Amino acid sequence: MTRPIQALIDLSALEHNLSMVRRHAPRARVMAVIKADAYGHGLLRAASALKSADGFALLELDAAIRLRDAGYRQPILLVEGFFSVEELALIEEYQLSAVIHHSEQLSMLPALKRRGGLDVFLKLNTGMNRLGFMPEEFSAALELLKGNPAIGQITLMTHFARADDHAGKESVSSQFQLFNTVSAGRNLPCSLANSAAILRYPETHADWVRPGIMLYGASPFSDKTAADLGLRPVMTVSSKVIAVQNIKVGDVVGYGHAFRADRAMQVGIVAGGYADGYPRHAPTGTPLLVNGRRSRILGRVSMDMLHVDLSGIEGAGVGSPVILWGEGMPVDEVAQSASTISYELLCALAPRMHVVA
Ligand SMILES: *Cc1c(COP(=O)(O)O)cnc(C)c1O
Repeated sequence: MTRPIQALIDLSALEHNLSMVRRHAPRARVMAVIKADAYGHGLLRAASALKSADGFALLELDAAIRLRDAGYRQPILLVEGFFSVEELALIEEYQLSAVIHHSEQLSMLPALKRRGGLDVFLKLNTGMNRLGFMPEEFSAALELLKGNPAIGQITLMTHFARADDHAGKESVSSQFQLFNTVSAGRNLPCSLANSAAILRYPETHADWVRPGIMLYGASPFSDKTAADLGLRPVMTVSSKVIAVQNIKVGDVVGYGHAFRADRAMQVGIVAGGYADGYPRHAPTGTPLLVNGRRSRILGRVSMDMLHVDLSGIEGAGVGSPVILWGEGMPVDEVAQSASTISYELLCALAPRMHVVA
């Protein structure tokens, strides 16, 4: 057999999850976030399933150009904007939209050539303190854009720092109020909501929502599963047991002897390690499926392999199918066990992974 690990991308699940965005935010336009190679799912592959989205958001200029060249006519928004006047020229040429979040970018705008050629999302820093103009700088930035004939549609935006946490409305209210105060009376379209805000705070939906993680079928919340939210996993990483070791009580497993058997047991070796994108810091006990049954990894994850407990799994042996995450094994559970979030696992899928749709 060829090395059996692969990532299967379920495009119908992606379409379904987009329909869940529409169900939650029926009046907003949807800007599907496909940065980081569509969260590891493959840019053009994901875009093909999301083709009914009203727009796309990402931050890699080369990927945005590939998307335009592939024939997508929707707005394509660069969420970090541009970094040089050379990039600005490409953005104009390919009719991309750009977030403007810093005065450095404003100072490049005189390089624009075409009237109404650039649609922008002007970003307000409402307290996350990552990107965006401070409230007291915002009006001046907006006036500058309005006075520049090369600027087309202006949309106002911000980004929530805690829409996913347990605090309830309080987690978005101060940012939401500040945004409303600063944007009041401007009569411009607005965009605020990421997946967590789409799912929990309908009052923030405004004109454009920006779903990322929920499209890929993972939950932005630690207290609600993707299944609870009606989302379907898009990526399933599967592999097989490629060897079996029968060990005795007291025997150790793998690098650093990180696991020691307290009884005789059968250990499966799975083709899949950190060079495939499986997190090395996933500890003993991290869940996975073998023969469709829940089990746990043992000891330290290697570059190309990991160990699985085959105790009590009927018929398990060389060739047994394994699901590392995806259908039947939520990526959120694996991420939580590895002290991270699904976003990181999905994005970290390694270039050598065989991806099929
Ligand atoms: C990544 C990103 C999103 C999507 O966030 P999710 O939590 O994945 O829904 C939305 N807006 C901006 C500006 C982003 O960078």
